[in-house]
Amino acid sequence: MPLLTNREIAETLERYANLASITGENAFRSRAFQRAADVVRDLHEPVIALMDRGDLRRLPGIGSGIADAIETLVRTGALPPLDALQRTVPATLLDLLQVPGVGVKTATRVYRELGVVDLPGLLAAAESGRIRALPGLGPKTEANILAAMEALRRRTGRFLLGTALPLARRIVADLQGTLPAGSSVAISGSVRRMEETVADIDLVVSTRVHEAIPATVAHLPLLSGIVRHENGSLRVTTHAGIPVDIVVVDPSVFGTALIRATGSADHLALLPEVLPSAPTEEEVYSRLDMEWIAPDLRLGLGEVMQAKAGTLPTLLSVGDVRGEFHAHTLWSDGTATILDMVRSAAERGYAFLGVSDHSRALGVANGLDAARLAAQRQEIEKAQRATGLRVFASCEVEVHRDGLLDFDDHILEALDLVIASTHSGLRQPRDVLTERLLRVIANPHVDIIAHPSGRLVERREGGDFDWNRVFAAAAATRTALEINASPERLDLNHDLARRALEAGCLLTINCDAHSTVGFDALEYGVAVARKAGADPDRIVNCWPIERIEAWLQTRQT
Ligand SMILES: [Zn+2]
Ligand SMILES: [Zn+2]
Repeated sequence: MPLLTNREIAETLERYANLASITGENAFRSRAFQRAADVVRDLHEPVIALMDRGDLRRLPGIGSGIADAIETLVRTGALPPLDALQRTVPATLLDLLQVPGVGVKTATRVYRELGVVDLPGLLAAAESGRIRALPGLGPKTEANILAAMEALRRRTGRFLLGTALPLARRIVADLQGTLPAGSSVAISGSVRRMEETVADIDLVVSTRVHEAIPATVAHLPLLSGIVRHENGSLRVTTHAGIPVDIVVVDPSVFGTALIRATGSADHLALLPEVLPSAPTEEEVYSRLDMEWIAPDLRLGLGEVMQAKAGTLPTLLSVGDVRGEFHAHTLWSDGTATILDMVRSAAERGYAFLGVSDHSRALGVANGLDAARLAAQRQEIEKAQRATGLRVFASCEVEVHRDGLLDFDDHILEALDLVIASTHSGLRQPRDVLTERLLRVIANPHVDIIAHPSGRLVERREGGDFDWNRVFAAAAATRTALEINASPERLDLNHDLARRALEAGCLLTINCDAHSTVGFDALEYGVAVARKAGADPDRIVNCWPIERIEAWLQTRQT
């Protein structure tokens, strides 16, 4: 029996936890299995290694009953309590949880109150209006379920760049330490191109001792074993379940192999079929009479022609970003104090930071009312004095369904910077949705529109806005549109960001950090801006502080 990955183990534990909860079999046990699933999912070594050392029972939250169950699962592939439960209820019940927005609570209700046991049943219940009839669920939940089931049909099962890139870097660092002398390794493929989602992690190893590589790879703690090994390439998998493809080549052709493995297919189609053999990418491109092309720009969009003509644009890089406008703290749903966030920004070399906690309408995020907003300002000013950074007193103000903002103009006027954002009602029809946003853009107090489409990568489609009208309005008022750098959002995406730039809009890149590590996401947002062809001059966070203050001044009138 092939060894289960930690992800597979965690998923099985979670299946039991969810099924036990939906059917009401045993709430306490369900919670315990859910906790165990979370622990296993976060491990960075295989469960079997812990079992061998006798350490499984020492993990927090894993008692001896669950440890026994995990050991049986690893040895036999079966989880006895799950098998027992599945004999009494349809296994398809768990499919309901694949629908974004349908959690255990909703699944429990439609199962117990409507007798829904599978996805077709859920669709039928939603279409016939039986879900809206359940007290506490209502027409909104029903509409969300219908929209989510539609989105589910289009799902691709890919991994977020924000998951794959940090993992790829750790694998590379581990490999670098164990490869034979004179060898090296580089990330390639869609991860290197900074695609928003990826199917796998691609690596190229350059070495003179090919035969040593499989054993070296097999011993990496982050990987769970070699799945396939043929013609100088290895396929392995991480404990998180992401496949890793490793191509092994001689140093003399490393550059050539790296270009091939990096792609994209559209980029490669514009290069000669047989590439010159060379140790570096620079040399390959130069022998093709081209400048070196940055991996995130290898999109097949004209970069090859520009590289030949020597007219590749100078695009912004992470170092051009001088600060951010959109960050959360303990005052709403962040996990750090204002001072900690500002200090973290300072450590990253930023000159300014906007503190923009949620406004009151976003109750789930502990949004601020006017009184707390005023109280917060004292603390913001203190942080500014303590650090010397310019700290903008801001707020992520909720846009209501009618386009009204959560605060009156006189409150907005007192803030240094106003960010407006839409977290609900994204399924409104195009005209309604667009008018709603145009109304916000027309408000002279609003400086930035956060995550404009509202999409969540792989989980929720953005709203159906009329982007031509939105971009024209934002360009006219000089309201900046955000590229939200959080890997779950990347909103605007690079296609929309490019259109916004063509329409003359200003953009801003923000991590929407909810913790100090949240600022690490900046590179994802910068990659979106680069793919969109953004010049630093059009990105407000790349401006000197005086220019930003002047922009804010003109916006107040
Ligand atoms: Zn937001
Ligand atoms: Zn936010």
